[in-house]
Amino acid sequence: MRVDGKISAGYAIVCNCGAAFAVERLGVAVECPECGHTKLGVDIAAEYYLDTSRPVTRRSRVPVLRGATG
Ligand SMILES: [Zn+2]
Repeated sequence: MRVDGKISAGYAIVCNCGAAFAVERLGVAVECPECGHTKLGVDIAAEYYLDTSRPVTRRSRVPVLRGATG
């Protein structure tokens, strides 16, 4: 599970199962609405912001699931 990019509603998350969903913020844990997999928000954030292979300003282009925020 990782952050795909910033979106207006928060962050676009892509899960290992292939699901893409949005979260308003990277909280204590982020749960995939499709498979139920969870990952610590701090781990996701660290991987996102420490990944210098691409600009952090890149915006996500994955279609996120409606109503899956939070
Ligand atoms: Zn999943």
